[in-house]
Amino acid sequence: MTLAEIQALDQVDPLAPKRDEFLLPEGVIYLDGNSLGALPKRVVARLAQVVQQEWGQSLIKSWNTHGWIDLPQRVGARIARLVGAEPDEVVVADSTSVNLFKVLLAALELRPGRKVILSDIANFPTDLYIAQGITELLKRHELRLVSKEEIDKSLDEEVAVLLLTEVDYRTGYRYEMAHLTRLAQQKGALVVWDLAHSAGAFPVHLNQAQVDFAVGCGYKYLNGGPGAPAFLFVARRHQAATRPFLTGWMGHADPFAFSPEYLPAQDLRRLTVGTPAILSLSALEAALEVFEGVDMALVRQKSLQLSDLFIRLMEPLAARYGFQLATPLEHARRGSQVAYRHPEGYAVMQALIAQGVVGDFRAPDILRFGFAPLYLRFEDVYQAVQRLAQVMQSGLWREARFQERAKVT
Ligand SMILES: *Cc1c(COP(=O)(O)O)cnc(C)c1O
Repeated sequence: MTLAEIQALDQVDPLAPKRDEFLLPEGVIYLDGNSLGALPKRVVARLAQVVQQEWGQSLIKSWNTHGWIDLPQRVGARIARLVGAEPDEVVVADSTSVNLFKVLLAALELRPGRKVILSDIANFPTDLYIAQGITELLKRHELRLVSKEEIDKSLDEEVAVLLLTEVDYRTGYRYEMAHLTRLAQQKGALVVWDLAHSAGAFPVHLNQAQVDFAVGCGYKYLNGGPGAPAFLFVARRHQAATRPFLTGWMGHADPFAFSPEYLPAQDLRRLTVGTPAILSLSALEAALEVFEGVDMALVRQKSLQLSDLFIRLMEPLAARYGFQLATPLEHARRGSQVAYRHPEGYAVMQALIAQGVVGDFRAPDILRFGFAPLYLRFEDVYQAVQRLAQVMQSGLWREARFQERAKVT
């Protein structure tokens, strides 16, 4: 495909105007929105307003006058649309890890007598660590870790909860959410889906798939900013029976009654814990306004076009330099990222970042490229592959400075 043909794709892209809503550094091609989403312009203005007016001038009155107290549910309702849930089924709080602790514990409580948490051995480590912590706490569960191919046949009557991340953070492999949810429920298990690499990247249909519980991340495709609060989903049918175990005052039925006895809120507020991080929540709320009126089916369509184009342009490079595609070619099995294995993956990625193409590296050998359809152009994909070709041709990646590992990779 020629550059002119690729530029023509940008000309007809219905999402092209969205790019203007982001502040992107000059000359940088950002293929890491799957790890830290770019900065929406409106966040800058919103934060200034919250800091100067709401905090600075209205001070503590803002809990009421500026609706700070309702932010966890208000922002949750915005995310609900993106993940196929009802507004009262999603709440924003804490981190993904902490939310997983809360919902996994509650889900296990709903399946007394069953002892297995089933997950993918390649699942994101924090998910596995949280599950391990819970088995140590409860002392009557077992974490069963298997490969993707073995999930189906490992679902048996012992499984209490099937815990999966819809899109594999390394390879970009996407599970069949509805199918696996049905299979797990047929065996009497509950499902907990982690949507860290799904929410904001493509349409998610939690209720259509009859999902029980889910958690997800605010700072990846939702662009809420570094360390943005995360979200959790509990299907309405489970809410009354979902027991909170991190029983903080914000989850109390009446926090300002200051009663000595804990009584959970009727609604999903029961899964919130302490005082919400208003600055971070305000940033996330503003970031979500970018999605207003956006057809997520169009986002998915563009995401696949971007990753298809990348894979196609990478073919000659992959053959010449030994990049091994780790991402499924089948659209239904692919998230919004493309990964290649390469034995020198770390140094190659550092050299590429020095050339202004920001992707990332995941041990042991994965180069990861994320495609955020709201701010990437087709031409960016073309330029990224051009610059990678230069890095490989010139042998730039061999320089010692690209071998040094930083604290965060
Ligand atoms: C990014 C990510 C997380 C992040 O968890 P935090 O607690 O927000 O740091 C969790 N799960 C998956 C699958 C992720 O990709």
